[in-house]
Amino acid sequence: MIGSLVSVATAGAALAAWGAYNPRSRLFGPVIRRGRPGGHALYLTFDDGPNQAATPAILDSLAKEQVTAAFFTVGRHVNLYPEVARAVARAGHDIGNHTYSHVKLHRCGPARINRELDACHRVLGDQVGITPRFFRAPHGYRNPFVQGAVGRLGYQTVAWNIGVWDSDRPGAEVIRERVRRSLAPGAIILLHDGDGYDHRGDRSQTAAALPGIIRDAREAGFDFRPLSDLCA
Ligand SMILES: [Zn+2]
Repeated sequence: MIGSLVSVATAGAALAAWGAYNPRSRLFGPVIRRGRPGGHALYLTFDDGPNQAATPAILDSLAKEQVTAAFFTVGRHVNLYPEVARAVARAGHDIGNHTYSHVKLHRCGPARINRELDACHRVLGDQVGITPRFFRAPHGYRNPFVQGAVGRLGYQTVAWNIGVWDSDRPGAEVIRERVRRSLAPGAIILLHDGDGYDHRGDRSQTAAALPGIIRDAREAGFDFRPLSDLCA
């Protein structure tokens, strides 16, 4: 009896841990995980900016190739570089909430979670003049309280299904090659135009990889689509 209670408790804890650490889990609320598996659409997303160096370089490449992407911004970085955030919005890209200070939300209670999401929401309104509709948790980590704030702000939570560890800076060609090998219809690709913990973080390799990533995808028959296409 005690043994079976322990195993139920262990299974419950394992399930909660899976929900907390798996960005694609629906245990703690609905998540957009990918587009339709048929067709040719891909979705580019950039996290942790704005960054003074990488974001403008990425915007240049996207403009040249006429690709619309989504940027999940850190509120603190928007406050530091509001002109860069405004350039993202002016170019027609989607901007999502990625918390104010890039805290790991699965360890936070409801008050801190509300403060983090509200502060980023407010700074995007005040500094950029937009009302975000998308949310992505730092590292994808969530807990049962996150959905309360997400629902109150009217957001949709967005995960990803291609991550290539570009933030480890393995070299632009490696980043490009990892994306090329992972491409699949409907994929949401996670890249980083900033560093969640260092507003001066170096994301030049991601910026340098981007033109090749776009070229490879188009040569393989894919189209880049705005994330808002997936918004219900
Ligand atoms: Zn992040």
